[in-house]
Formats: sequence, C-alpha cells, structure tokens
Amino acid sequence: MTYENVKIHPAVDGGVKKGDANFHGGTLRCKCATDPVEVKVSGQTAHNHVCGCTKCWKPDGAIFSQVAVVSRDNVEVTKNAQKLKIVNEAAPIQRYACTECGTHMFGRIENKDHPFYGLDFVHTELSDETGWSEPQFAAFVSSVIESGVDPSRMDDIRGRLRELGLEPYDALSPPLMDAIATHTAKRSGALSA
Ligand SMILES: [Zn+2]
Ligand SMILES: [Zn+2]
Repeated sequence: MTYENVKIHPAVDGGVKKGDANFHGGTLRCKCATDPVEVKVSGQTAHNHVCGCTKCWKPDGAIFSQVAVVSRDNVEVTKNAQKLKIVNEAAPIQRYACTECGTHMFGRIENKDHPFYGLDFVHTELSDETGWSEPQFAAFVSSVIESGVDPSRMDDIRGRLRELGLEPYDALSPPLMDAIATHTAKRSGALSA
C-alpha cells in the first residue's frame, strides 16, 4: 500500500467490502439526531461507485461521494417526508435533501427521455444494514478539483483509487458511457431501436 494515507470516502478508506449477492435492501436515514427522514430501499443496488462531481452529497470531510442506483419502484419515503426538499428542480437529477441536516436521501429523474430514467440515485452508507453492493469504480475524478482539491494531489488520488480497485474515470465508467451513447443513437436513428 503506497497511498493509504490518501482519504477518498469513509466507506472505502479501510478497503472495499464486497456486497452480499443475497442482500435485499434496507433503510436509509438522514443525519438528524431526532425525527430523521427514512427511506426504504427494497432491493440490492447496482453500479455503486465513488463520484467526484460537485453535485453528489458527500459526508463531512470526504472528497468523493459514494452513490449507487436502484429502480425507482423500490424507493419509498417511510418517515418524515415533510423534511425533504428538492435541491435544484431544474437539474436532470432531482436530489431530495433533508432541510435540517442537508443529507441527500435520493435523486430522481423525471424526464422520461433521460438514459437513466427509472433509476434513483442513493447513498447506501446512510443505512445500518450491511451487504449493499460495493463500489466498483470512480467517476468524475478530475471534478474534485472543482471542489477545491489542489491539482497537484491528483496523482496520489488516482493512485489510491487504483490501489482500492476503483478504476478512476473522468466521466462515468465505459459501460455506463456506452449505455448513454446507445440511448442517444437509438433516439437519433443512428442505431435501430
Ligand atoms: Zn435530516
Ligand atoms: Zn456525482
């Protein structure tokens, strides 16, 4: 281990823990000490990754978020829904945040033409359950600079991500970028639908 002092996100800094193939979901809770918002996720997540973009919610001190997707049909607010508010209604992903503690509870896409319509974005670290799918790659790595990370640190950050088995990409992973391009090509007619 060469870069173990480089902090990425609390969920991976001690090593990536494998998910449980038989895991069936759990409950996400915001950081409020009293009356937390609760969101029930009925199912295992997919495409979990750490993300360096400036839009995803990050725990205090972390330079990356950890974010996964799950079918929107499997996401249900079960407690204190009145505390939730959309961070930016105009954004493609509408992120529902707790108005008291600021934690993002889920992100939802309402545009049916969006490549990822039907999937909600969730941060499984907000759950006490173990067995959620593990992060598999690092997205939008260069974007951490936009959050104020010194560019001279990027070699160490990419080194640490590779050491953790989280291949760093400056967009999404190739399979997800291919899925977006396929969606676009089918809409334009370049590929038959
Ligand atoms: Zn809260
Ligand atoms: Zn992000």
